[in-house]
Amino acid sequence: MMRDMTRPIVIAANWKMNTTPADAAGLARTIASRTREPGVTRVICPPYVSLAAVRDALAGEDVGVGAQNVHHELAGAYTGEISVPMLAGLATWVILGHSERRAYFGETDELVGKKLDRAIAGGLRPIVCVGEVLADREAGRQEHVVDAQLKGALEGRDPAVLVAAGIVIAYEPVWAIGTGKNAFGADAAAMADAIRASLRSLGWGDGADATPVLYGGSVTSANIGEFLAEPGVDGALIGGASLKPDEMAGIAARAGITAQARGLAS
Ligand code: PEP
Repeated sequence: MMRDMTRPIVIAANWKMNTTPADAAGLARTIASRTREPGVTRVICPPYVSLAAVRDALAGEDVGVGAQNVHHELAGAYTGEISVPMLAGLATWVILGHSERRAYFGETDELVGKKLDRAIAGGLRPIVCVGEVLADREAGRQEHVVDAQLKGALEGRDPAVLVAAGIVIAYEPVWAIGTGKNAFGADAAAMADAIRASLRSLGWGDGADATPVLYGGSVTSANIGEFLAEPGVDGALIGGASLKPDEMAGIAARAGITAQARGLAS
């Protein structure tokens, strides 16, 4: 089935290793009730152990539930890991290749590609994270680095399958994650163009234009407007601020304005 080629506005919350099952449900409900905006796709990614609580808390709300990672094998001797079949009924989205997974758990582009294959085969909608470290940006290598990350994870895969699965790319400069130092809107816009150029060079054709590109890195209600003002940027992956309902309400309100301006809010 071909997906609608209009790009949605996506606001995705990455709670990282925060919240317990006891407090996740209330937080999810509060955020859901304060972020309802026509044309804005919302996703909450709690820790694995809170997926069930968040799913139940969000019953009747149009908010996707996502995992923050998934293993690339279906089952086996992988102590402490979670596979795609285990997420059935708990999550419909998954974050892959987050820079914290790459930095602390040694995830490579090749591994991200394997996870992507499993996620898509299991019906999960992937948010694939890419982004350069500070030294790369200072050397002007950021687009080269991100191009290599995309090629490492996506090359050899059928673009039509990835687009039909609703793949989302999140551009998250590592130096901006959790640091309070956000990129400029223009940096995100330039990278969104570069990402779509990389996808085109992989043979994606129109699929490159149909693929949402999010910005992530110290997004708040105060700076989200700078990113959403860029036509090539389709939303945000939000870490620290996603635990704060006031912040999420402000971010969603701004996303709602963009959804309306882009003709998405019917
Ligand atoms: C993230 O976790 O993807 C992220 C961007 O974190 P923060 O918003 O805290 O920088």
